[in-house]
Amino acid sequence: MSYVDEVLELVKKKNASEPEFLQAVTEVLNSLRPVVEANEELYRKNAILERITEPDRQILFRVPWVDDNGQVQVNRGFRVQFNNAIGPYKGGLRLHPSVNLGIIKFLGFEQIFKNSLTSLPIGGGKGGSDFDPKGKSDREIMAFCQSFMTELSKYIGADVDVPAGDIGTGAREIGFMFGQYKRIKGSFEGVLTGKGLTYGGSLARTEATGYGLLYLTQELMKCHGESMEQKIVTVSGAGNVAIYATQKAQQMGAKVVTCSDSTGWIYDPEGIDVALLKEVKEVKRARLTEYAAARKSAEYHEAKDGSVWQIPCDIALPCATQNELLIDDAKKLVANGCKAVCEGANMPTTIDATEYLQNNGVWFVGGKAANAGGVATSALEMSQNSERLSWTFEEVDAKLQGIMVNIYHNIDDAAKRYGMEGNYVAGANIAGFEKVVNAMLAQGVV
Ligand code: GLU
Repeated sequence: MSYVDEVLELVKKKNASEPEFLQAVTEVLNSLRPVVEANEELYRKNAILERITEPDRQILFRVPWVDDNGQVQVNRGFRVQFNNAIGPYKGGLRLHPSVNLGIIKFLGFEQIFKNSLTSLPIGGGKGGSDFDPKGKSDREIMAFCQSFMTELSKYIGADVDVPAGDIGTGAREIGFMFGQYKRIKGSFEGVLTGKGLTYGGSLARTEATGYGLLYLTQELMKCHGESMEQKIVTVSGAGNVAIYATQKAQQMGAKVVTCSDSTGWIYDPEGIDVALLKEVKEVKRARLTEYAAARKSAEYHEAKDGSVWQIPCDIALPCATQNELLIDDAKKLVANGCKAVCEGANMPTTIDATEYLQNNGVWFVGGKAANAGGVATSALEMSQNSERLSWTFEEVDAKLQGIMVNIYHNIDDAAKRYGMEGNYVAGANIAGFEKVVNAMLAQGVV
């Protein structure tokens, strides 16, 4: 049996109840086959694949907090510190009822390769809780965040592990967590990223994941002799990534015609009104029905009535959550002539849907490369905190653009080096993996 197959068997046996983690590991290890075959003896002897698929540590804890009725609630908190070969653990905190250990492990595993691709010194980690922020008062959110950080603060630090936002964790939550960390430790340090601008946050961090996605997509199109001008783009999601992806796509001259949330989706043939979407989602924290009510050109569909992927487009940008673009969606995209799919979310496309898109000539860039702009800008926030300076929006944005263009060429080159031209999924996994493995080998058996 090949080394990759042996380790896949082992990982399946050890983590049988974690389908998302197994999906992420299967995708990565399968695409690394040519690299592993070329270095089989060295990697086997050093148990590289066994080590890279086993987190350094997994921290699970109770998060008790009191709701507005005086009732004590209990959630489960997680932080998985996966790999710190190239820098302190870095990755977001997801607050969503679906969160469990397998989901945090899949996200932490992906983060190792994504963070490596940014070319900045950050390792891979992820955390979160099954707490549902939806419908909670500001006081309840604060109570949860303070309790969560009271325990998490024991395990993180500016040179150790630097969490950030993810689904359900935005500026408000990061603010409450930062305040509690500072109170417990008595130390003002860059322990979280995505902070507010008045206390160490970076300009352009809010926009970074969505903007970065478009900088990479634009480079992909350019290298295939195309531009973003007049392209019809479908976006899923209506959170931070989707909003700023839509804004940047429109600045580039494309027309974004969809968005979605957990209950339904919008088709707006006139183009999504970003200011209205921000008002509904960021200010009112309301449902997309409010968007439809305020805009004549918009059609609202319930989630059970299809998805944004049935709308014909040139470029599809899944920006919602894992496993939201399935094989039937991939078939519709291909049938409607979609040219490119770039992932703004983490693992939104299932393995069979990815393969279908690739086999039918769609340029497909996975989240580890395409959505790396968020965490890259987090690393830029860490740099600014270390030098106690703040850069201008233009400086950060220019660095972000450079990083995303560089990622595209790195993954394109890595795929070509192993005879897989145009397979950007393999290219991303290979380029991300090579740097981490070099660092692991240099640092010995740790
Ligand atoms: N949660 C984001 C991601 O999936 C950002 C992480 C960070 O900024 O540390 O990459």
